[in-house]
Amino acid sequence: LATHYLNRIEASNLNAFTHVDRGLTLAQANAADQALAAGNATALTGIPIAHKDIFVTRDWRSTAGSRMLENYVSPFDATVVTLFKQAGMVTLGKLNCDEFAMGSGNENSYFGAVKNPWDTSAVPGGSSGGSAAAIAARLTPAATGTDTGGSIRQPAAFCGVTGIKPTYGSVSRYGMIAFASSLDQGGPMAQTAEDCSWLLNAMTGFDEKDSTSVQRDKEDFSRQLNQDIKGLRIGVPREFFGAGLASDVEQAVRTALAEYEKLGATLVDISLPKTELSIPVYYIIAPAEASSNLSRFDGVRYGHRAADYKDLNDMYRKTRTEGFGDEVKRRILTGAYVLSHGYYDAYYLQAQKIRRLIAQDFQAAFAQCDVIMGPVAPTVAWDLGDKSDDPVANYLADIFTLSTSLAGLPGMSIPCGFGQGEKNSKRPVGLQIIGNYFAEAKLLNVAHQYQ
Ligand code: GLN
Repeated sequence: LATHYLNRIEASNLNAFTHVDRGLTLAQANAADQALAAGNATALTGIPIAHKDIFVTRDWRSTAGSRMLENYVSPFDATVVTLFKQAGMVTLGKLNCDEFAMGSGNENSYFGAVKNPWDTSAVPGGSSGGSAAAIAARLTPAATGTDTGGSIRQPAAFCGVTGIKPTYGSVSRYGMIAFASSLDQGGPMAQTAEDCSWLLNAMTGFDEKDSTSVQRDKEDFSRQLNQDIKGLRIGVPREFFGAGLASDVEQAVRTALAEYEKLGATLVDISLPKTELSIPVYYIIAPAEASSNLSRFDGVRYGHRAADYKDLNDMYRKTRTEGFGDEVKRRILTGAYVLSHGYYDAYYLQAQKIRRLIAQDFQAAFAQCDVIMGPVAPTVAWDLGDKSDDPVANYLADIFTLSTSLAGLPGMSIPCGFGQGEKNSKRPVGLQIIGNYFAEAKLLNVAHQYQ
C-alpha cells in the first residue's frame, strides 16, 4: 500500500505535498507489516495517512506553509500524529496548506498553490487544500486537516471528498501550529464518512497537554453507522439559500435534501439570523488571536532569521518581513488593530458578544431539528488566480462555514454532486451537515446513510 501511494504521489503534479521521504515511510510500513504478522494490529495498522503540514512531526519538517518555518524540524510529534502512529498508521508525508492555515483557496502557501484534481485550473479550497486534493487524486486514503473557519469542510467540498470538523475540544491541539486558538480544531478527511469514523476513533480523546481538551468517555464512531434515519428532522436555514448562493450549488444541495426525504427524514424551515455577521465577527476574532499566536515567530525561538541586521528591533522587523506572506501580515495588522487600546471595545469586545449570540441561534435551531443541512460554500471551486488579489472575496466565500466554528459545533462536508461554475467544467459540490455539541456520531451516521 505504501509503495502504491508513494508512486502515485511521485507521478502527480498537484503540488499537494510539501515533503515526502520514501525511506521513512517504507520503514514505518515494514514495522506495520511486522505488527500485522505478529497479530498485534489495530483496525488502522498499515493504512497510509498524510498530515497537513500544520501538525508538527519529529521525522518530517513542519512548515505551516510558511517561509518562516521552511526548515523547521519539531522536537516532538503533535498528539494527533502520535495517536495515528500508535494505531500503526503509516505516514506518507506532509500536505501543503495555506500559510498558517489562513486562506480559502490554498493560494497563500509559500510552497505554491495546490491544484484541484477535478480541474487543474481550479483551486482545491483551503486551507487544507493539500489534504483534500491528495485524497481526491487517490494519493492517500486518509489525511488530517484543521478547521478554524471552514478549512476542513470547504476544501473537502471543492475536491469532492468527506471531512469532519469535530466539536471544539474533542481533538487535541497540542502540536497543531496555532492560528486562532479558540477556533482551531483538527479533524479527519477521507473518501467517506465511514473512513472518517475510523480516523476519528483514533484522533479524539482527552489530552492533558491541551488546556481546552474536553474530558469525555471515548466513543466508537464506526459502530454507530447503521442507524435508520426515519423521522430525522433536518433544519434547512433560510439564510443559507439567499441571493449569494450559486444556482448549480443550490440545485445539487436541494437534490441531496430530497434524497434525505426519501430516506425518511423531514425538512424543517429554520432561521440562523446572524449568519451574515459571522464574517465580520470571525475576521476580527481570528486575526486578533493570530496576532498574538504569531508573535512567537521572532527570529529567536523558531525558524527563519534575517541574515543581517543592525540591532534586535531590526532583526525582528527583517525576519518577520521576510518570513511572512501578505495574508499573514494582513491578519497580524488587523488583529493588532482590533486589540489595541481604544479599538478593543469597539471591535473585539463587540465581536465576542455577537459570537455568543451566533451560538445561541444554533441552540434555538436545535430545539426544532436534529441536524442542520445546507451548502458548504456559495459556489464551486473558483479558478486559480481569480481571487488571489482580493482578500475580501476570499473572506466572503466562508459565509456558510464560519458560524459553526464560532459556536464550536461539529460540522461536516460530504460530496453531493457537481456544478459547472462559470467555466463549464465539472466541479464538486459539498453538502454541509451541522450537529449539536458532540453529535459527531450522529453526523457520521447521517452522512453514511446517504453515501
Ligand atoms: N478561510 C478561513 C480563513 O482564512 C478559514 C481558514 C481555516 O479554517 N483555517 O481564516
